[in-house]
Amino acid sequence: MSARLIDGKAFAARLRERVAAAVPDFVATMDRVPGLAVVLVGDDPASQIYVRSKHKATVEAGMASFEHRLPETTSQEELVALVERLNDDESVDAILVQLPLPAGIDDKAVIDTIDPDKDVDGFHVINAGRLAVGEDGLVSCTPLGCLMLLKDQLGDLSGLEAVVVGRSNIVGKPMAQLLLRENCTVTLAHSRTRNLAEVVGRGDILVVAVGQPELVKADWIKPGATVIDVGMNRQSGEDGKTRLLGDVAFAEAKEVAGAITPVPGGVGPMTIAVLLRNTLVAAQLRAGMPPPAGL
Ligand code: NDP
Repeated sequence: MSARLIDGKAFAARLRERVAAAVPDFVATMDRVPGLAVVLVGDDPASQIYVRSKHKATVEAGMASFEHRLPETTSQEELVALVERLNDDESVDAILVQLPLPAGIDDKAVIDTIDPDKDVDGFHVINAGRLAVGEDGLVSCTPLGCLMLLKDQLGDLSGLEAVVVGRSNIVGKPMAQLLLRENCTVTLAHSRTRNLAEVVGRGDILVVAVGQPELVKADWIKPGATVIDVGMNRQSGEDGKTRLLGDVAFAEAKEVAGAITPVPGGVGPMTIAVLLRNTLVAAQLRAGMPPPAGL
């Protein structure tokens, strides 16, 4: 039996349309457009591409995009000073500092300078804490996108066994918290987990975010499980072309899972769509308006 393919690209396109459709309400009430500031330090090629895509998507959704490109030689103090200016700028509702930052700059010190109400990536310790204690706040885009796909597939997640592999602050941990909030029974696995195959086999829901190409094998997966593959691993093929591989051995896993995200075209497109959603939500909350319904 072949699994249902979870089309993250199509879901993300619909979410972007819903965000764009909700922007005019904000504009009518506040007489300005929601604004996202993106800060890029240095010239990492992958980061340049991400920042360009974020800019284009923000403008297409009818929101303002403020790009700040700083040289590799920027000091931590200069970067912190820019973030503080953006915190005070009323036209900026959301701030994203593109990671990784050049060596010598402390990511955490910079992220913790962002006003938590403008922390569109949800990486600030206040937003991580809000998520952990079940308060509303801005939630990291990739895990929130994964949750949206899961709810779209499964509806109510209550009582399901969920296994998350990977415990990073940006994907694994917030993913586990989100699933707990949905009343799943959550197991969070990592590189020190014993019998990973057996642990993975418990999951009605399986989310994998480790950064190891095709680590999770088909015979680890519970038959019928819903599998979300966050991994994005670039590998050169024999033909010299670069391929994108997930953390799950997709070709075999799709014969066992009930539903599965492909790589590419699964989780990847969700991240920017949720970034736009979070920008609008941050703008609404800062303006004292209720968060837009259906987002
Ligand atoms: P990190 O490197 O920060 O974390 C990886 C996690 O995987 C760690 O918790 C680590 O465990 C765990 N891990 C590593 N090897 C194993 C193993 N053999 N068995 C079990 N657990 C293991 O990665 P990220 O969370 O940032 O990213 C994970 C993947 O997701 C990457 O491929 C990344 O490119 C992708 N990604 C995709 C996004 C998107 O689609 N938009 C966004 C963000 C990430 P330990 O803590 O013990 O070291």
